[in-house]
Amino acid sequence: MKLDATDLRYVTSDEFRVLTAVSRINGAESADNLTGRQVEMGSKNHEIVPTVLIVKISGLRNGGVNKILGSLAKHDGYRLTYGGYDFLAMRAMSKRDTVQSVGNQIGVGKESDIYIVADKDGQELVLKLHRLGRISFRAIKSKRDYMGKRKSASWMYMSRLAAEKEYAFMKVLYQHDFPVPRPVDQARHCILMGFIDAYPLRQVADIPSPGKLYSELMDLIVRFARAGLIHGDFNEFNILIRREDGNPIVIDFPQMVSTSHKNAEWYFNRDVECIRRFFRRRFRYESSIYPRFRAINSEKSGDGSDEWHLDLVVAASGWNQGEQKVLEEYMDTVSQEQERAGSDDDESEGSGDDEDGEGEEEGTSSSEEEDVDGNGGEDVDEEAAGIPQEGT
Ligand code: ADP
Ligand code: MG
Repeated sequence: MKLDATDLRYVTSDEFRVLTAVSRINGAESADNLTGRQVEMGSKNHEIVPTVLIVKISGLRNGGVNKILGSLAKHDGYRLTYGGYDFLAMRAMSKRDTVQSVGNQIGVGKESDIYIVADKDGQELVLKLHRLGRISFRAIKSKRDYMGKRKSASWMYMSRLAAEKEYAFMKVLYQHDFPVPRPVDQARHCILMGFIDAYPLRQVADIPSPGKLYSELMDLIVRFARAGLIHGDFNEFNILIRREDGNPIVIDFPQMVSTSHKNAEWYFNRDVECIRRFFRRRFRYESSIYPRFRAINSEKSGDGSDEWHLDLVVAASGWNQGEQKVLEEYMDTVSQEQERAGSDDDESEGSGDDEDGEGEEEGTSSSEEEDVDGNGGEDVDEEAAGIPQEGT
């Protein structure tokens, strides 16, 4: 999807009011909580927004609204699309001066678009636009109708929840010196963060000492868990290797869970297993040392430092957990579906049955099979790594 920041400057405040009204009425802004005014009018959320409601909510006169809808139709018509929603978010950021210009798209995630943008000082930042609903898993289609009748609006609403959650976690993690991008701004379904000059671990064909990186990554998983958190999608796509020093930076937080989540151990093990599997396949590196959820969790009681409870810090940071329930259910379902599907359309994979490192089914790069560095026996310094151990 094309993003055009230049348009932002030419939108009048009336046009903005109309678009905002459209987004409110159509439900992108809230799932069920109708605003007082909407209740008053006896209306529900509308996928297709009637002009009469736009007139009421925007507070503009009928003629004015019609004229504006005419000009906005270029973007959205009367149905709020991601294009229109992007526009509202970008306008908010542009008003706050956190974004001044939009550059190239650098990534298309499964459910996001990633752009390089610049702030008013020309500093490069990364804009992530959440696009939930872009892919649908069979389980979600069949088991539960997340979308109801208002398909696109519900997905936009979920995307906003995802952005709010991701931003809340990024802020708390950054404040506690976790290696994550610097959070800059958030509006609706978009987050703005520092640009990391890095490449995804996925692209690393060979490293001199896989054991070192392996234990750094396991350390990170442990550090998250000691802080009460599980990343939940800790894989080679969401770990960036910084160009300047080779250090790993972790991204992508909408699916993070607390260590007190009912499936915490399952999520934790999956993160650990993702790394183990990747190292086995890519670097032919395998270690019997890896962290165990129970060992970390049992250590936790007693210490008063707030690193133990970042899950609670995030919860207390003004982020609306009640509202987030629907997103959480969605994320849980997606996780479980990924697990069941193995890896079909999801390169981040579920539980592999393919444990021998032979059948690299992802096959986007032929270099993968070549990187046998004979370093598979290198061991991790478990003391330094701080990895609770039990052996296999
Ligand atoms: P998704 O949720 O769709 O997986 P991610 O947050 O993982 O989206 O980002 C997708 C890709 O965009 C990453 O793999 C990375 O290449 C790039 N990217 C994301 N955030 C940054 C950043 N802050 N700096 C540099 N590249 C980034
Ligand atoms: Mg990702």
